[in-house]
Amino acid sequence: MLDMVKYLILVLFALTFTNDLKGQEEPKNEDAFFLRSIYDKALTEGRCYNWLTHLTTKIGGRLAGSPQAAAAVEYTRQMLDTLGLDSVWLQPCIVPHWVRGDKEQVKIVNSKSMGSLNLNALALGNSVGTPDDGITADVIEVKSLDEVEQLGREEIEGKIVFYNRPMDPKQIRTFNAYGGAVDQRVFGASKAAQFGAVAVLVRSMTTRLDDIPHTGVLVYDEEIKKIPAIAISTNDAESLSGLLKKESVRVFMKTNCQKLADAPSFNVIGEIRGSEFPEEIILIGGHLDSWDVGSGAHDDGAGCVHAMDVLQLLKRLDYQPKRTIRCVLFMNEENGLAGGLEYAKVSNDKHEFHLAAIESDAGGFTPRGFSCDGQNAIFTEKFKKVIEWLPLLEAYNLSLSKGGSGADISPLKSQNGLLFGLRPDSQRYFDYHHSRIDTIDAVNKRELELGVAAITSLVYLIDKYGL
Ligand SMILES: [Zn+2]
Repeated sequence: MLDMVKYLILVLFALTFTNDLKGQEEPKNEDAFFLRSIYDKALTEGRCYNWLTHLTTKIGGRLAGSPQAAAAVEYTRQMLDTLGLDSVWLQPCIVPHWVRGDKEQVKIVNSKSMGSLNLNALALGNSVGTPDDGITADVIEVKSLDEVEQLGREEIEGKIVFYNRPMDPKQIRTFNAYGGAVDQRVFGASKAAQFGAVAVLVRSMTTRLDDIPHTGVLVYDEEIKKIPAIAISTNDAESLSGLLKKESVRVFMKTNCQKLADAPSFNVIGEIRGSEFPEEIILIGGHLDSWDVGSGAHDDGAGCVHAMDVLQLLKRLDYQPKRTIRCVLFMNEENGLAGGLEYAKVSNDKHEFHLAAIESDAGGFTPRGFSCDGQNAIFTEKFKKVIEWLPLLEAYNLSLSKGGSGADISPLKSQNGLLFGLRPDSQRYFDYHHSRIDTIDAVNKRELELGVAAITSLVYLIDKYGL
């Protein structure tokens, strides 16, 4: 009996083994092996972390139009030049040039219970400055743009409007919570000005309660008077709100931020030309500019070095792509999208076709998968093909979902390819986003490298099988 059992085990073992050997000749296993080699190389010979260290510690915050942005253009061009690509070039674009000026001040004045109190403040990008003497006015708290409208001129005129709707902590994907709150930051100033407000304060866009203010772009309605807008930390937003429940509060605000003349800048581009279908482009990209505070490590230095390292890995693996693989580091995503719009314009003028574009602009955290977008007419058919690769990607904890891609590549949607966004774990992203703590020490080397491996894997599959 025991012999019989032993025999059966041996037979079963042999069958499993030969099945495995047979399986290896099937394309799926060949792909699994190649993905494994991508991960091996990314985790042992990646250059992304060194590049990001240079970008963040030697260059720093890279706001469009700044000397640091120009230095980042030059540095990344040089690094791409070291990879032995078929071509590397700079694509000119014209960018807005906003400067923060002196440290902004926001101060509660003459509070009965607190006296005078400084708040942790950061002017919003594109904000106008205050007069030299600053602005002092009563504060009114609101939770939405609609509430400003409901209160109307009678309640709003002459006051500082304080937008204090938090990001929804119940959202699992923090990007959804951000999307649900950021209208206050982007459109709050003009909405308040429409009803006679003199300035706005905005609760920082983060789920965390702390003392760190977060900046980000605001967009003015050109028809409405431009008023200054400053973010305050979430802790200070809570304090101010608490105080407003007890007494009327006056706040002093001062900033001399301003917009200078538009400036010339560049997108940085490098590519490996396809051997069979060079006219089919697979783009990988991030944005090279960042806010001026912190050093744009997660947003979006990580995305840039991801894209660069994908090309580095493909070269190291001696991979000859059938299609053209192009890395694009876009300029001015943060306050205008000049680089992304110029890239799409030039591409359309040249009648190029982007079979796929993949953007990494959600941080350098552990990758969880990709979201995918495309025009209705082509999406279902093409996405079906992508879904077939899911078992290969799931082996590395990567999922695929329908959803947005990235701001820079979104204008390419009209070329009828697929757009992808890398989706890393999002729980900590908004702790750092647009703040002085978005620095290299917030980035984990291995997590960053896994992002490169994830994107390279998707690039490989798209290149090999098309869409
Ligand atoms: Zn970004």
